[in-house]
Amino acid sequence: VLTTTEFDTIAAISTPPGEGGISIVRISGEEALDVAKKIYRGKSLDKVASNTINYGHIIDPSTGQEIDEVMLSVMRAPHTYTKEDIIEINCHGGIVATNRILQLVISNGARMAEPGEFTKRAFLNGRIDLSQSEAVMDLIEAKTDRSMKAAINQLDGNLSHLIKHLRKDILDVLAQVEVNIDYPEYDDVETMTSKLLREKATDVHKRIVQLLQTAKQGKILRDGLATSIIGRPNVGKSSLLNHLLHEDKAIVTDVPGTTRDVLEEYANVQGVPLKLVDTAGIRDTTDKVEKIGVDRSRKAIASADLILLVLNASEELTDEDRQLIKATNGKQRIVVLNKTDLPIKLKLNEIKQLTHADHIISTSAIKSDGLKELEKLISKMFFDEGISSSQNDVMVTNARHIGLLNQAKQALEDVIKGLDTGMPVDLVQIDMTRCWDLLGEITGDSYQDELIDQLFSQFCLGK
Ligand code: GDP
Ligand code: ZN
Repeated sequence: VLTTTEFDTIAAISTPPGEGGISIVRISGEEALDVAKKIYRGKSLDKVASNTINYGHIIDPSTGQEIDEVMLSVMRAPHTYTKEDIIEINCHGGIVATNRILQLVISNGARMAEPGEFTKRAFLNGRIDLSQSEAVMDLIEAKTDRSMKAAINQLDGNLSHLIKHLRKDILDVLAQVEVNIDYPEYDDVETMTSKLLREKATDVHKRIVQLLQTAKQGKILRDGLATSIIGRPNVGKSSLLNHLLHEDKAIVTDVPGTTRDVLEEYANVQGVPLKLVDTAGIRDTTDKVEKIGVDRSRKAIASADLILLVLNASEELTDEDRQLIKATNGKQRIVVLNKTDLPIKLKLNEIKQLTHADHIISTSAIKSDGLKELEKLISKMFFDEGISSSQNDVMVTNARHIGLLNQAKQALEDVIKGLDTGMPVDLVQIDMTRCWDLLGEITGDSYQDELIDQLFSQFCLGK
């Protein structure tokens, strides 16, 4: 049940904080036009057509003072982002002027939007479903073109479509079961019903498993492949890192509320976003003397999906190298033999033996040799058949969706087990219904208010 305050007219600055060429103050709600009319001087907003942009001035109605020269967009419900009336004020990009305009908008009848509230309205007003709303956030945070494609695919509703089909199939079979239960006078009704349930449970189970198979790659595209560059001092870790973060490809995000130490850096490796873990230690060139020993590396090793273990090919293997090889055994690993431009002292056979013939690549960071091969290998290890480029290929990218799909899969396994052990059909039905509910949480067809609040609070302000 929605309270009226949930549909107050809301406003926020929708462009990133700070100075820029222009900033946009966005207003959404029934009173958006009325609020704008009070502070806008230009052509009467009652007379302008929807989806037009208009030249005028923002005036403080209490003083008559002119605040800014603006372009004002009018978008009338229902064909807008929120399905409500939307006004967007494009003003000159200064922080002071933009805040002044936002304050005027607030004092003239709108209230401050919460993070993600515009998108939340798009959801609550039925324009997009929950998984599509989540795709909006993924799109904003997309790290490579491939990640973006996955988010757009989800925003287009391809995942939702698939989930809705699964739910419909489950609902159909549940309805059929009800009918059968209502006519117990027929022979064999129990056997028929249980056969029907089993067939459908098996079929839906298979389709969910297929979806889950895309999750591993999907999650990498969305969150990045956590990668640690490990190796003793001076083997060339920083040089390698700098190559991977080649200026035009580097994506650096400063995670709010965290220190410089956990600055996240992403490298775009053939469309795969590599999230480089614990690069602070590698970047620290001043403490070369201090050993970046095995202990220091353990944390970085544990949290990584991929290890780049760098060895110096121009020196013999040291004890520390051996320890690092041991510490990274069992992980997805590429052994990088660096400094191959120098005379080689490392014995390849020994490395092969010690690493159980892991992926081994020879590089020279100084001569930029072998780096393309390294990138190709990374991409091939995690995207065997390449990253799907088809817009229609549904890929599950979101941890929340993956969790729900796993639970739904479990519920179906309970259905099948229940039938196998001769459990009464009405009990089996409960598990089938649970599966239906769980799938509905992905699209937001079944949801709890707390979930919605929690999800949208992760959005940025003004979206
Ligand atoms: P780190 O301590 O593992 O991060 O190693 P650095 O990347 O700081 O490199 C240590 C030294 O080795 C620097 O002087 C680099 O210029 C040099 N170096 C790095 N890669 C190569 C390489 O492929 N060949 C040669 N000859 N020198 C390299
Ligand atoms: Zn369809």
